[in-house]
Amino acid sequence: MHTHIIPEHMPNWTEKFGYGDFIYLQHHKQGFAKMIKGNQFFREIEENCWNPDLRIKEYEQFNTQVQVVCTIPVMFSYWAKPEDCLDLSRFLNDHIAELVNNHPKNYIGLATVPMQDSDLAIKELERCKKLGFPGIQIGSNINDENLSEERFFPIFEACQELDLAVMVHPWNMMGMKNMTKYWLPWLVGMPAETSRAICSMIFSGVLEKLPDLRVNFVHASGSFLATIGRVEHGFNCRPDLVAIDNPINPREYLGKFWVDCITHDPKMLQYVLDLQGSKKVTLGSDYPFPLGDLEIGRFIEDMQLPKETVEDIFCNSTLEWLKIDKRDYIDV
Ligand SMILES: [Zn+2]
Repeated sequence: MHTHIIPEHMPNWTEKFGYGDFIYLQHHKQGFAKMIKGNQFFREIEENCWNPDLRIKEYEQFNTQVQVVCTIPVMFSYWAKPEDCLDLSRFLNDHIAELVNNHPKNYIGLATVPMQDSDLAIKELERCKKLGFPGIQIGSNINDENLSEERFFPIFEACQELDLAVMVHPWNMMGMKNMTKYWLPWLVGMPAETSRAICSMIFSGVLEKLPDLRVNFVHASGSFLATIGRVEHGFNCRPDLVAIDNPINPREYLGKFWVDCITHDPKMLQYVLDLQGSKKVTLGSDYPFPLGDLEIGRFIEDMQLPKETVEDIFCNSTLEWLKIDKRDYIDV
């Protein structure tokens, strides 16, 4: 339920809009492309970032048929002018809608929306609902603003009303400027970002006010579940700081949202399963990026879990999160 894809060809948004560090792809050699941010090299990606048939073949090696795809977070472009971000989001969403249309048994799409403007975001949510998207992907903060900010609430409310699931992905990591070495933004910043997003949505009451909002936090919740004891203790010992907008103990929310299984660690996954229940743990891979679980689910197969638990992780939890039917993908 957590893989990333990008169109093979995209407009040069920086040229088109006349400002900003938008991403474009430079296909400099067969099977590879450089992501250029503004005019700076950002990272090199391989053909499995855009080629649908190659992705299906690579997935087959791990007996996996269906990929939930969403854009690469660097494409969010929440910093751009809202209308321009809408334009870009529509382009990415149309690409994923077409992909799903061409490969209905192999791909499920999550849309992206201009979170910096609630009205435009909701407009695009409504369009994506009509295109058949079961959900969206959003960042863990929006231009450094937390998901607890009131201006994001109407977007979450619209997701609940439109029955669109939400995947929260860390991006624009806090402290990035202070940790340029050792890949720290990815190793330290990302898990903290996801916990930041969960705490913001719990403490502000978003999850309380919108009980039917189906949210999935990637990378097994980042550092949230690992620090739930501390978070709960903080809630109990300093309610004057923590419980100001929602009087409910954060532990009450365990098992009410979804997380993926990307832990790279069987003991940690067992802990996540103990806290969340297997119905709320989904099979994420972060394919095709190197920090992901690229031997999709193999460590889970090696864990000797009960068959039902494995089935929940491998498909049932994702089906329930996205409210989709197994029979649309395989003969059962
Ligand atoms: Zn990811």
